Amino acid sequence: MNVLLFDIDGTLIQTGGAGGKALMTAFAEEFGITDPRPVAFSGRTDRGIARELFERHGIEDTAENWERLRAAYLQRLGRYLPRHQGHVLPGVVALLESLSRRDHVALGLLTGNVRDGARLKLEHYRLYHHFEFGGFGDLHPHRDDVAHDALRATRAHLRRDVPQESVWVIGDTPMDVQCGRAIGARVLAVATGIHPREELAAAAPDILLDDLRQADGALSELL
Ligand SMILES: [Mg+2]
Repeated sequence: MNVLLFDIDGTLIQTGGAGGKALMTAFAEEFGITDPRPVAFSGRTDRGIARELFERHGIEDTAENWERLRAAYLQRLGRYLPRHQGHVLPGVVALLESLSRRDHVALGLLTGNVRDGARLKLEHYRLYHHFEFGGFGDLHPHRDDVAHDALRATRAHLRRDVPQESVWVIGDTPMDVQCGRAIGARVLAVATGIHPREELAAAAPDILLDDLRQADGALSELL
């Protein structure tokens, strides 16, 4: 059995700014902050982004405030996705269809998105049906902890132990590479997000691609 754990933003899709706008608007409106200072999104978890937003604007980082922000964000995300010009990234549809047809391959998510945010984004781009389990960004500020959750979810879904060397993490940032290493997985990095190829190369993934059009061939030799 081989397990492939996919990141979402910059790897499978890009939402044309819908995700970031939904989160920042939710934060501004829910907490009465007129012009929130921007924070980095790429490779981070929603919980980690929220923590930084709270800290930078003097708001207590409590479970209650996080729940308020998450609910306000999800409300807006569903509305913003169709209004922004996002797209599925090159090669993704063909790769997921090809992998879904294979025996002994399980497809999951390893994403900083909150669970319902991941669902809304992937439903909008008609990719959600490929994924039955995953690790999400609801609880953990650090992506490495999400990776451990994804591995636990994989074992629960498959009802068996999964050797680390049969797990692949696929993502577009150095943090994806790092969190893959944290669970002993192999990593395919893809330069379709904001991180240039050289920056991803420095993180030393097992495979580095410009986009996912070549991924099926690259993985075929290894799965
Ligand atoms: Mg990403």
